Amino acid sequence: MTKLIYSHLYHISFTYFDRIENKECPTSLIQPYVSEDKLTTKEVEEIYLSRDSFSSMVKGMVERSFYKDRGYTKDSFEFREIKVTYAGYDRWWLTWFSHETKSQFDTDAEAYADFDKFIEEKGSVYEEKSMGAEDRWRWKICQCEHCVKSKQTIINH
Ligand SMILES: [Zn+2]
Repeated sequence: MTKLIYSHLYHISFTYFDRIENKECPTSLIQPYVSEDKLTTKEVEEIYLSRDSFSSMVKGMVERSFYKDRGYTKDSFEFREIKVTYAGYDRWWLTWFSHETKSQFDTDAEAYADFDKFIEEKGSVYEEKSMGAEDRWRWKICQCEHCVKSKQTIINH
């Protein structure tokens, strides 16, 4: 039976100084939304204790993905501003041209049906920032080893 799981979501944006190109880079998004489920228990506690410590924790997460994606070293850039804002409580969240959920579905059809319902609920306001999520013909459930093993569903779009 389908089990819907909701998560607290945070929107992250930042500006950085690129020492390789010697320029200030505009606000970029690496991981538009971070689910509380992806954080450790200690990190989740910190969110409620201090907004500042949450920011520094997110900075660490962004740095890690930044190094990995771009092949930068720790000294290649410097963060100038990082903004973390609460984005609400929901069962699907936007990542890079995909949506993720921790909800458990028995079949792919159930996952597509719930995502369809989610997109309908969001309405047209959401479409501008959804990276193509409203184009149903693009939807494809990720079948990578990680997704198959883990308790998560990713729909690429
Ligand atoms: Zn995957």
